[in-house]
Amino acid sequence: MSDRFTADQIAAGRRLFGGPSRFVMGAAGLEHLPPASAVEIAVAGRSNAGKSSLINALTGVNGLARASNTPGRTRELNFFDVNGRLALVDMPGYGFAKAPKSEVKAWQAVLRGYLRGRPGLTRAFVLIDARHGILKADEDMLDLLDEAAVTYQIVLTKADKITPAELAKVTAKVAAAMKKHPAAFPEIHATSSVTGAGIPELRAEIAGLVETL
Ligand code: GDP
Repeated sequence: MSDRFTADQIAAGRRLFGGPSRFVMGAAGLEHLPPASAVEIAVAGRSNAGKSSLINALTGVNGLARASNTPGRTRELNFFDVNGRLALVDMPGYGFAKAPKSEVKAWQAVLRGYLRGRPGLTRAFVLIDARHGILKADEDMLDLLDEAAVTYQIVLTKADKITPAELAKVTAKVAAAMKKHPAAFPEIHATSSVTGAGIPELRAEIAGLVETL
C-alpha cells in the first residue's frame, strides 16, 4: 500500500475501473485512429512484460486484452473504453519479434505520429519486468516518448516474482535512470497482476488523470 494515495483517491480508482470496460478497435495506421477521447492513456512494454495481464487486472475483465495479443493484432494500437470515461490504448509489445528493418521503421513512424498528434493523450505507462529492469528496447521506447514530449511513468510488473529487498533495489535503480529522461514522471509503480499488489494505486493514479479534467 502506497502512502501517495488517500483512501478517497483509491476509491475513485475503484469506481473508474468498476464500470464496464470493452475493446473498441485496433488501428494499424494513423488513418484508422478513432476520434480522440477527452482522456487517453497509453500502455507500452516489451513483449512478455505483462501488459495484457496488467490491463486485465486493472479492468477486472479477464481476457479483455487478449484480443490484442492474437497474431495480426500485434502491429496495432488497440483501443479500450473504460467506463465511458477513459480511452486506454494498448501499444504493441516491442523488443521481441525479429521484424524486418523496413517494417520496424514504418511501425515506428506510426507510433511517433500517434504519440505526437493525439490530443487527450495524458500519460503513457511503460511496463518494465521487475526482474529485468530497463533494457535496451525499453530505452528506445523512452527516447521515443521523450521526443514526442508525452509524459510517462514506469510501472514495474511481476513484483511477486522477486523479494521486497530486490524490488526496492530495482525501484531505486529505475528511479535513478529516469532522472536522465525529461518526460518521465518520477514516481514508480510496482505491481503484480497475480497478487493484485499495486493495482488499486495504479487505478487511483489513472483516476486522478481523468478527474483533473
Ligand atoms: P504481454 O506480452 O506483455 O502482454 O505479457 P502477458 O500479460 O501475456 O504476460 C507474459 C507472461 O508473464 C505470462 O505467462 C503471464 O502469466 C506472466 N505474468 C504477467 N504478469 C504477471 C505477474 O504480475 N506475476 C507473475 N508471476 N506472472 C505474470
